[in-house]
Amino acid sequence: MQSDQIQDLVTRYPIVKDLIELKESIWFNPEFTTLEQGLPYVGLNQSDINDARDRLARFAPYLMTVFPETLATQGIIESKLSTIPNMQQSLETHFDQKITGTLWLKKDSHLPISGSIKARGGIYEVLYRAEQLALQASLLTLDDDYTKLNSPEFREFFSQYNIAVGSTGNLGLSIGIMSAKLGFDVTVHMSADARQWKKDKLRAHGVTVIEYEQDYGVAVEAGRTAALKNPNCFFIDDENSRTLFLGYSVAGERLKKQLDQQRIIVDQDHPLFVYLPCGVGGGPGGVAFGLKMAFGDHVHCIFAEPTHSPCMLLGVATGLHDEISVQDIGIDNITAADGLAVGRASGFVGRAMQRLLDGFYTLDDQTMYRLLGMLNQSENLKLEPSALAGMLGPILVSKHKAYIDLHQLTEQQLQHANHIVWATGGGMVPAEEMQNYLAKA
Ligand SMILES: *Cc1c(COP(=O)(O)O)cnc(C)c1O
Repeated sequence: MQSDQIQDLVTRYPIVKDLIELKESIWFNPEFTTLEQGLPYVGLNQSDINDARDRLARFAPYLMTVFPETLATQGIIESKLSTIPNMQQSLETHFDQKITGTLWLKKDSHLPISGSIKARGGIYEVLYRAEQLALQASLLTLDDDYTKLNSPEFREFFSQYNIAVGSTGNLGLSIGIMSAKLGFDVTVHMSADARQWKKDKLRAHGVTVIEYEQDYGVAVEAGRTAALKNPNCFFIDDENSRTLFLGYSVAGERLKKQLDQQRIIVDQDHPLFVYLPCGVGGGPGGVAFGLKMAFGDHVHCIFAEPTHSPCMLLGVATGLHDEISVQDIGIDNITAADGLAVGRASGFVGRAMQRLLDGFYTLDDQTMYRLLGMLNQSENLKLEPSALAGMLGPILVSKHKAYIDLHQLTEQQLQHANHIVWATGGGMVPAEEMQNYLAKA
């Protein structure tokens, strides 16, 4: 992008100046609407979520058989929701800011199979593809017991097909492990920021890993190109996939059940705030869609990005979506939050969800490390840096009067609020790697 074009953007959208200067920034969405007004732009609805939910239920008996770690949840890949009162206190002391309401952690970091939020969308899309192929070949009907997929015949059948994906690490882990288990020939195209242990783990599962010296966008493009040359190869498109998005969306009604069980009310007088770390946007976008469908306008979704990779904020604030990258405005897309190291946001997610998101903020790597250390000390919970991005949100929302005014929230409503920080990954980080993270806190 030419410097006069950048100057023009800065004039029209002042937030862009803060992004260029790598300032920790907060942007409340002026285009925010009600669910009723925003839903038509998503292009998906409750029956699409139900379809995903039912498909995951059909596969549950199979998942329970091949991944015994899913036995506890009957083959449903779902995480726990816990309060983190010690962390709430640490945050309040550290930032000298009271958090109005109760702080919770949604532990996708400890999801079975791949230890990150990608165990939702990534695995779902592989299952979707496997079911489609088996149905078309008349090897399966919707009423079958899907444990039959755990057989040499099915693995032989799936081995005729290839699956490819581009990833910064966690999506590759989810898709690689799930695809290999079913018998697919799977290739993961990994960006430079992907951690070595993730590549090693994949290779140990029999997955082909191709490494790139460039970032996520390049790895995705390489995967897409390779897949185009092979008619039996299915490319899982993290930048555009509605299937992936729907895999994430099921989280909404499941969270509602968990809150019901804990007798937590979400309504006009008890607003729910959810803070979601955002990379390309599929994970947080899909979850936010599910949350909106489950809780309506009483849930407030806020996305968090690294100061060096604010792709979704940039795309939504300027309305340019995937027609602009952070590199276009001189930002390097280099961050320790590898799951969030994305320079260009999903155009599909940005356009679909821009009216349903309350706002966005950015934070430094150093802030993520500090929060990582605080969570470890206060709650003895260990997450990867990306997963801490949401942790600053409750402080920001409690502090910013402009936000509270924009959404016409009263002090009393805020006192009854619940804040959920979506912990997106870290459960499988090797101990040695975790020591390195903690040392940086
Ligand atoms: C992928 C990822 C995210 C964000 O998901 P996107 O779909 O890329 O927006 C957040 N946290 C972690 C740990 C991730 O791996």
